[in-house]
Amino acid sequence: MNQKPATPKDAAAVILLNGAGDKVLWARRNPQIAFLGGWHAFPGGKLEGSDALVPVENCLDTELGKFIVCAAREAFEEVGVLLARGGEKLTRGQRASLHDDLISGRMTFAEITEHWNLWIDAADFAYTGFWTTPQFSPVRFKTRFFLAVCPPKQEPYAAISELENVEFIEPRNALSKWKKSEVLISPPVLLSLKTLLEISVSANESKTENLRPKTIAENLLKNSQVADGEIRYIELNPRITCFPLKTDTLPPATHTNCFIVGRRRFVVIDAASENASEQNALHALIDSFVESDFECLAIITTHQHRDHTGGETALQTHLKEKFSLEIPLAAHRLTANNLAGKINFQQIIEDGEAFDLADEDGKPFELQTLHTPGHARGLLAFYDAEFGFLLSGDNVVNSSTIVIAPPEGNMKNYLSSLERLRDLPNLRFLCGSHGAAVFGAKGKIESYIAHRLERERQILQAIENGAKTPREIVERVYTDISPALYELAEKSVEAHLEKLREEGFF
Ligand SMILES: [Zn+2]
Repeated sequence: MNQKPATPKDAAAVILLNGAGDKVLWARRNPQIAFLGGWHAFPGGKLEGSDALVPVENCLDTELGKFIVCAAREAFEEVGVLLARGGEKLTRGQRASLHDDLISGRMTFAEITEHWNLWIDAADFAYTGFWTTPQFSPVRFKTRFFLAVCPPKQEPYAAISELENVEFIEPRNALSKWKKSEVLISPPVLLSLKTLLEISVSANESKTENLRPKTIAENLLKNSQVADGEIRYIELNPRITCFPLKTDTLPPATHTNCFIVGRRRFVVIDAASENASEQNALHALIDSFVESDFECLAIITTHQHRDHTGGETALQTHLKEKFSLEIPLAAHRLTANNLAGKINFQQIIEDGEAFDLADEDGKPFELQTLHTPGHARGLLAFYDAEFGFLLSGDNVVNSSTIVIAPPEGNMKNYLSSLERLRDLPNLRFLCGSHGAAVFGAKGKIESYIAHRLERERQILQAIENGAKTPREIVERVYTDISPALYELAEKSVEAHLEKLREEGFF
């Protein structure tokens, strides 16, 4: 069942500064789009074949040149900013009409630049390195980032429906939104904002005026080079870090999300991987927490499935050997019973219990435990009510299928659990055990409930039309899945039938 991570596609993005150089352009990606919907990001996108056709002046590296064109094209497409020399002669109306030509496909960017005597100058784009989407994402990009300054008299706007809230913002203000968990910020953007803030603070202290984009770009480039463009974990907010680990899970997912919640007092949820190099990577981050005198309260397992277990004991042993720490393994009673003899849990967590955690500044916050049976009898989810952030476990995920397989799985319980999660007060974001975090958690859970109820309706209809066995029902209802998954789908059908029986349908 193990599936290879997706191959990254070439892409480019632009870190656009305003004329004064104290603000940077970001936008929220439309929550409806599959890749990073609802996340804040810089304008950018996939490299196109025609990008290589646009001549770039002052560029010795043709490979880099086509990415510069890609960044310029994406900036024009997405936020209407034309980063081409000769563009200053155009009026706002002319730019709008060119934009329309590009978006409607009447002309390529290469044709537009040629027709209007525009040219791209590499001197306007400072390369700041590349970042690759983490392996857990079903769609991945290797994105080259370029720093550029918005030309005078051009106002960025949401020029395509994929973007909302396009704005120039001071890095300090952007980061303060993230610190309050008002926004999700993609990792390269978060790191860029932190670096821009550091640079502006040190420039203020040393009273250097007008930092040149080249100096800023050099600082940004260092980050990318140190990490070799690899994003190992994602800081969802200052309290929750998502650390995807390679596991033997159900396709299309390839990874299980491990969460580290809290800083000065923290817990680790689903240290799930049996793979030694994955474990080492996770241990390195947790070691850095312990070395900063942060206190680990527990290593928690959400439920007994094999893609959620296998690294918890290794982490416990590692912390004992390296730091002489005795950290309890914790799970729900039903999970602990199920795994008795395989994993030795020292702490039982019940519904409604709260972990008393603290952020990096020592400010306390609570992480509530929610017992949500359905997918597994002892499944736990966790909720930070203050930030409205739900760790939904295997109840709701962003890039995989949830299997409800009786007798462990129970559809009636699953739907009740979903309803309970949907109705959490102040709910805004969620991150499940597989895939990226979701902006608009309520809507996502609603869509899960609607999907299951629709399946139920289709199953009843299939029975009315003569389907007799679960396999016959699967063949009529699950037309959107590969036959390799039929066996799992049959289990789901059985779960639906069990629920319908309980409810007296037959
Ligand atoms: Zn599971």
